[in-house]
Amino acid sequence: MTETNLLIKNATYLDVVEGAYRKGDIKVNDGIISEIGENLANDGAVEELDAKGRFVLPGLIDCHVHVTAATADLGQLGEWSPNYVALNTAKIMGAMLERGFTTVRDAAGADFGLHDAQAEGLLRGPRLFFGGKALSQTGGHGDPRARGRHSHDGDYCVPHIGTIADGVDAVRLAVRDELRKGAHHIKIMAGGGVASPTDRIDSTQYSISEIEAAVEEAEAANRYVTAHAYTGRAINRALRAGVRGIEHGNLLDDESLELFKERNAFLTMTLVTYWALEREGRDFGLSQENWEKVAAVLDGGYEALGRAHEAGINLTYGTDLLGGMHRYQAKEFAIRGKVIPAIEVIRSATVTAAALLQREGELGVIAPGAAGDFIITKEDPLNDLEILAESRLDFVIQQGDIVSSTSTGR
Ligand SMILES: [Zn+2]
Repeated sequence: MTETNLLIKNATYLDVVEGAYRKGDIKVNDGIISEIGENLANDGAVEELDAKGRFVLPGLIDCHVHVTAATADLGQLGEWSPNYVALNTAKIMGAMLERGFTTVRDAAGADFGLHDAQAEGLLRGPRLFFGGKALSQTGGHGDPRARGRHSHDGDYCVPHIGTIADGVDAVRLAVRDELRKGAHHIKIMAGGGVASPTDRIDSTQYSISEIEAAVEEAEAANRYVTAHAYTGRAINRALRAGVRGIEHGNLLDDESLELFKERNAFLTMTLVTYWALEREGRDFGLSQENWEKVAAVLDGGYEALGRAHEAGINLTYGTDLLGGMHRYQAKEFAIRGKVIPAIEVIRSATVTAAALLQREGELGVIAPGAAGDFIITKEDPLNDLEILAESRLDFVIQQGDIVSSTSTGR
């Protein structure tokens, strides 16, 4: 990646921690914000951008994406050529960048190859945090087999988003193997899901000792475990076993709220995926029964978001969209904005997300020492989250590079 030096003049920029706008010029050197101040000099070979009258926010962070999920039929994905999946992924990641997401955390499927390709500039897209394949027990949310199928091809090169590991020793081995490949975090399936072929949404998955083993191995490498879980029962046992993050969490209960607080854990809700399924799921072949399940999970999600916000829990932005529904990635801003204040929604996609990624001060803020990642808008997103939800962005800047201008969103 070229090391552009950029000077943004006359910025009205959002201090997301304080929730207030500040004014000044912002200088980016070698991809990092080097200075913020009044009337900064353009000392030489510096690209200059006048942001007068515009609003400058940190680049957005989505903490739950599946960049390889080019189809909503995840069972099918494993039958695809890895090369074909990678080329689809390039298109998906490029579109994410257009929507202002300069960083994403992949919640299962992405690997070190995609990470390295993005970092080296081969692949245009958000900075990528990945966990490799999600760990699932047999018959769990990450088991793609239909009931009549017995063999499971766990080969690394098969582009399934999950891998099956049963028993403490196998879980340890699977975690160590993902860490060996460079995983930033470990994802486990700790409860049932909506679209998986054989499990029930109200089931818990993995024994406590298996979850504890995953946590122990991840923490040994200074990494963390995040768990897919919907119900209070599944969430609470995972948090007690030491996981640091919960994905979805739509059906959390009072005890969950206490455990999140006590353990300073992170909740990454993904409401837009149910919103999209409710809207378009029938077109994608969702049965009436599953469609009704989706509606119930969405209603529970709105309520859970409000309660989690009131309880002061670390909320992070997630989307979890698959296949043709990726285009709704920014819609989560509008959905959350119906329940919680705009600044809290923006924090979930910036400063709080950076804390989850263990990159506090480096991502999700506009301050010296942070990455030169920004979105620039004409109107104030704090007044109207639709500006973000509709990707009405004048500029997207990543590490000081203007990677998109007058984006219309897709
Ligand atoms: Zn997911």
